[in-house]
Amino acid sequence: MDEMSLMGRLLEAVNFAALKHRDQRRKDEFKTPYINHPIGVAYSLWKEGGVTDMAVLQAAVLHDTVEDTATTFDELELTFGPEVRQIVQECSDDKTLHKMERKRQQIINAPHKSIKARLVSYADKLYNLRDLCISTPEGWTQERVQEYFVWSAKVVGGMLGANNELERRLEQVLNSRGVSLYGLSETVG
Ligand code: NDP
Ligand code: ZN
Repeated sequence: MDEMSLMGRLLEAVNFAALKHRDQRRKDEFKTPYINHPIGVAYSLWKEGGVTDMAVLQAAVLHDTVEDTATTFDELELTFGPEVRQIVQECSDDKTLHKMERKRQQIINAPHKSIKARLVSYADKLYNLRDLCISTPEGWTQERVQEYFVWSAKVVGGMLGANNELERRLEQVLNSRGVSLYGLSETVG
């Protein structure tokens, strides 16, 4: 596929996600527009992970549309094809489950994820962990932030091997809060 078509496919995903997330904000104290997150996840994949696979970059931009908006997987498939649908599906929680069970499922499902879904998950976790270092969401205790770091290490620790550079950066941010990616144990309180 030529460069213009590739650019068009990526822009189509960015536009789709921007429309879907238009009324949403992040949980940080600045109430950042939600779309900053999926765009940042795709950018990090490319810039830090060296990922150029178009389906992965599109899926990164779209990864929270089904979980957090009225978008359906069928709609994604119709617009972006089966591969993008599949990756987003692998990165989406089952919304019929309670939040605690969803978190448990992410740990259980991690080892079964495809390489492409692992890449999106790496960049997603990396972005969220960095966000938590910049600003604590309203109503969150430091214990809750720490719990998120420990849980993320368990999820990512179960899906290693997809991208060394992103893993290195995940390890870095986790270690900054005393959490180890490889041993899955806290090294400091
Ligand atoms: P989470 O704790 O899972 O919130 C984190 C999610 O919010 C991220 O994965 C991210 O998802 C999104 N998000 C939006 N803005 C930010 C931001 N600025 N920084 C980081 N992440 C952001 O919230 P839920 O409400 O989904 O889960 C509730 C769970 O939290 C419960 O099951 C329980 O385990 C735990 N909990 C713990 C408490 C405690 O005090 N220890 C209290 C209450 C709940 P995305 O990538 O999809 O945007
Ligand atoms: Zn996300």
